[in-house]
Amino acid sequence: MKYELTIIIDGKGKFLIPGLIDTHIHTMFEFITMRKSYKFMLLCGFFLFLLLNLTKGQPKRTNKKTTTTVSNNFNIEISHAVANDSLRLIEIFKDLHANPELGFMEIRTAGIVAKELKGLGYEVKEGIGKTGVAGILKNGQGPIVMYRADMDCNAVKETTGLPYASNKIVKKDDGSSTPVMHACGHDAHTTWLMGVAKIMASMKDKWAGTLIFVAQPAEEAILGAEAMVNDGLYSKYGVPEPDYLFGMHTAPVPVSLVAAAKGVRMAGTDQIDVTFKGIGGHGSTPQLTKDPIIMAAAAIMEYQIIVSRAIDPQKAAVLTIGSVQAGNDNNVIPSTALVKINLRWFDEHDRKLMIEGIKRINEGIANAYNLPDSMMPVMKMKGWSYPLDNSDTLTDWVITGIKTFVPENKILKEDRLPAVMGSEDFHHLVIHNQKKKYCYINVGIANPALFQTALKQGKQLPFNAHNGDFQVDTDAIPFGVKIATAGLFEILKHIFIDRNSLH
Ligand SMILES: [Zn+2]
Ligand SMILES: [Zn+2]
Repeated sequence: MKYELTIIIDGKGKFLIPGLIDTHIHTMFEFITMRKSYKFMLLCGFFLFLLLNLTKGQPKRTNKKTTTTVSNNFNIEISHAVANDSLRLIEIFKDLHANPELGFMEIRTAGIVAKELKGLGYEVKEGIGKTGVAGILKNGQGPIVMYRADMDCNAVKETTGLPYASNKIVKKDDGSSTPVMHACGHDAHTTWLMGVAKIMASMKDKWAGTLIFVAQPAEEAILGAEAMVNDGLYSKYGVPEPDYLFGMHTAPVPVSLVAAAKGVRMAGTDQIDVTFKGIGGHGSTPQLTKDPIIMAAAAIMEYQIIVSRAIDPQKAAVLTIGSVQAGNDNNVIPSTALVKINLRWFDEHDRKLMIEGIKRINEGIANAYNLPDSMMPVMKMKGWSYPLDNSDTLTDWVITGIKTFVPENKILKEDRLPAVMGSEDFHHLVIHNQKKKYCYINVGIANPALFQTALKQGKQLPFNAHNGDFQVDTDAIPFGVKIATAGLFEILKHIFIDRNSLH
C-alpha cells in the first residue's frame, strides 16, 4: 500500500491538502474488508502521521515565500488566472492592434483601459497629460508600486498581412496624413497592463500596499511621461508617488526569453528641430536670396564633426538627422529649411557638448551668410529623456519573481546584454521624485518558428521594431501577463525603508 500525502503551504501559511494520491483500489478493498480493531488502529496511526507532518512542515507566518512548494502553489493560481483570461486578452490585443493611435491621440485606447480598470474596482483618473490614465488600488499597509504601459503607435504602414492588421490612415498635427500601426508593441503593453490589473484585483488577499497602473501616451515622441507629470499626476490628480516603478517592453526575440538587467540599459535622448531662416526667391537668381537649403546642408555635414571630434572616442553618442524639409519645387529657393535631429548619449556632459555644438554650427553658418541676429536659426528642444538606469535591488526582486515562471537561462542579464542606444521615457514618471527606483525589462514576443526561420535565412531577427512587418505572437500576451504579475507580487513584498540604501 502506498500513500503519498501532498501538503501545499501558501504565502500566508495556510495549508491546502489536495488529498491522498495513488491510493490503490485493491488496497481500498482490503481496508473495507478488514476487521474493525485493525481498522481503528490503522486510522489512529494515519491521523497521528498526519498531525506530526503538519506540525513539522508548518512554516513561520510570513508574507515571504518560504519553500518551493509555496511558490508552486502560488504560481499555479497565477497561471490559472492568466489561462482563464487569455482568450479575452488576445481579443483585446487584436482590437488594439487593428485600431492604433498616435501619441496624444490615444482617445479610444485610453477609454478601453479606463473602462476596464473602473470595472475592476480601481480609482481611475483620466485625461492626464492629454490622454494618460491612472488606476489606483489601495489595499492596506505596504509599498506603493506603479506599473506602466505606453499606448501610442507609429507612423508606419503595416505589411504583416495579419487578419487584424491595421489599415488606418491618420491625419497628423501638421495636416499631413500617414498610415499607422503598432510597430513597437505598445498594443501588447496595454493589453498586459489590463491582464495584470485584473489578476492583482482578483488576488487582493495575497498582497498588501497600493498599486497604480499607468497607461501613458506618446512614448515614441519621448513626451508622454513628462506630460503626465507636468499635468499634475502627483498633485492635481492625487496619484501617490510610487516607491517602485515597473514596466516591460516587447523585444523581437522568441516568446519565453526575458531581458532583465541592472544598471544603465538605454541611452538618454533629445529630439531637436532646427529651422534655418533665409530669403526665398527664383532658382535662377541665387544672388538675390539667402538659401536656407545650402545652410541646412552645410550644418548637417558639420554636425557629425561634433560626435567624431568633440566627444571622447571611448564614449558612445549618436547624432542622427531623421528628416530634412524644405521647398516644394525645382526652381524655387524657399525661405526656410527644417532639420529634425535626434541625439543619443549616456553622459550629460556629452549631451551639453552636442546641444551647444549644434547651436554654434547653426549660428556660424548663419553668420557666414551674413544674416542679421533676427534671422539666426531657431532650435526647438522637444522630447528628451535621461539614460534609463535600472535599480539593482528592484531588478533583483523582479528577476526573483520572474524566475518562478522562466528558467534562469532564459533570463538575459547585464553580463549577456550590453546597454543599447535606444531610449525610453518610462523612468520620467519618477525621475523628478525623491524615490527613483525603477526597473524596465524586455520580453520576447516573436513566434519561435518565425525566429528560427529568420536565423536560417541569415538574419539576426525575424523583424524589427518600427517596421511594417513587426508582429507580436499571441502567445506573448498570456506570457507577458504572467511574468509581470510575478514581478509585481515580488516587488510588493518589500516595504520602502531607506531611499538611500538601494541603488
Ligand atoms: Zn518605439
Ligand atoms: Zn516602444
